Amino acid sequence: MNGTQLPECLDPVASPGSSWHPNLWHPTTQVATAEPPLRVVAGKGVWLELEDGRRLIDAISSWWVTLHGHAEPRIATAIATQAVTLEQVIFANFRHPPAERLAERLSAVTGLERLFFSDNGSTAVEVALKIAWQWWHNRGEQRSQLIAFSGAYHGDTFGAMAVGERSAFSAAFEPLLFHVARAPWPATWWADATVEAREQEALQQLDSLLETPTAAVILEPLVQGASGMAMVRPAFLQAVEQRVRQAGALLIADEVLTGFGRCGALFASQRAGIQPDLMALSKGLTGGFLPMGVTMAREALFEGFVGEQPQLTFFHGHSFTGNPLGCVAALASLDLLEENPDRYRGIEERHRPHLERLAAHQQVKRPRLLGGIAAFDLGAEPASYFNPAGKELARRVREHGVFLRPLGSVVYLMPPLCMEAAELDACYAAIATALDEG
Ligand code: PMP
Repeated sequence: MNGTQLPECLDPVASPGSSWHPNLWHPTTQVATAEPPLRVVAGKGVWLELEDGRRLIDAISSWWVTLHGHAEPRIATAIATQAVTLEQVIFANFRHPPAERLAERLSAVTGLERLFFSDNGSTAVEVALKIAWQWWHNRGEQRSQLIAFSGAYHGDTFGAMAVGERSAFSAAFEPLLFHVARAPWPATWWADATVEAREQEALQQLDSLLETPTAAVILEPLVQGASGMAMVRPAFLQAVEQRVRQAGALLIADEVLTGFGRCGALFASQRAGIQPDLMALSKGLTGGFLPMGVTMAREALFEGFVGEQPQLTFFHGHSFTGNPLGCVAALASLDLLEENPDRYRGIEERHRPHLERLAAHQQVKRPRLLGGIAAFDLGAEPASYFNPAGKELARRVREHGVFLRPLGSVVYLMPPLCMEAAELDACYAAIATALDEG
C-alpha cells in the first residue's frame, strides 16, 4: 500500500502513532480519559495501515460497515465512474437509473416493495418510525403506543434514541424523549439453561403491553448489536411476530447492523423466519463505502400516504436522498454478495472451531455466534459498557496486530467478509494470547 502523508507544515500534530487533532471532535469519545486515535493512512481488504507503518486487522469492520473489505476495487470503480456521470440530483423532482435499479433489487430480496432513502442508520430508523406512526394517523386510527425491547439501540437521533434503551448515552436528553413501552429481550448463549423460561416471561410481558393499541413494535432481528451482541433464538422472534400480527400492529426490523449477510443469511429477518412491514438498512448497504440509509416498506404502507389532501404526504426528505454514488456502491456490493454467497453463508462455520477453543479459557463467558458475529463476555459479571476490562484486552490485542473495540466487557469479532483463513487465525490467536497475558 502507498500511504499518503501530509506535509509537515499542514499537519498540526504530525507525531506518529496516536494523538489528538486540535480541530477534530470524535464520536462517542471522552477526551479526558480515552486513548488518542490512531492515525490511519490507508486500508486494503481487512488491513488498516497506520502512519507509523504498523498494520492492523480491522476485526470489527470499522463499526460494522466495511462489508467486503477496505478499498474493495469493484465498489471503488463503480463510485468513480458514477462520480463523473451524475454525482447528485434533487430526488423530489428527479429519479435516476441507479436509484431505480437499487429499489428493484432491494425490493426483490426483502419482499418489501417500496424504498425510501435517507443518510445513515439512525435516519433509516427515524423514517420507519415516522412512516408507521403517520400511517395510522392517515387512517384516522388512534394507536399511540410504540414498543421496543430492553437493551435496544437504534441510533443517536432523537426518535432513534427514544426507542433505544435509556442509558448514559441518552440520559441528558431524557425529558425530551417520547414514551416507549419496553419488553424484555431474552438474550442467549452457548449452553444457556435458562433461555426458555426467560423467553416465556418476555412473551407474557409483550402480551400485556399489546393490550394497549400499538402502532408498531421495533426490534433488531436476532442480535442487538450495541447493547453487547445480545442474541435471541429465531423461535422467539417468530412468537413475537405472531403476537404483533394478532394485535394488528406494524413490525419494524432494524437491520442496520444485521443486514447484508452479517448473520449468515442476506437478512437476519430471513434467518429468523419473520417478515417485517418495515426494514431499516444502512452500514453494509454501500459495502461500507458511503453513508446511506434506506427504509423498505410494504406497498400497503405506501398506499396509506396517497390521496388529494396534502396532509397525507410523508413530509420527510434529506438533501442527499437517493445519492447516485451511494446507489452504485450499493449495487456493486449486492453484486458481490450475489456472486459469493458462500462468503456470508459459510462464515459461521469458519468462526465456530475458533470460538469453541476460546470458550475453554477461564475468562471467556457466555460465548455466542451468529453468522460473522462471534462474541463473549469477559468475566462472569453482567456485561457493562463502562467495564474497562474489554478496553484493556483490546490494547493487548492491538499489540498483536488486531484492532478490536469491545462493548465494555463484551468482546466480539465481526470481520469483513473477505477475511482469509490465516487472518481469522491471527485474530483468534491474538485474543488467546492477550487473555493469557491478562
Ligand atoms: N440501528 C442499529 C441496530 C445500529 O447498530 C446502529 C449503529 N450502530 C444504528 C441503528 C444507527 O446507525 P448510524 O450510526 O449509521 O446512525
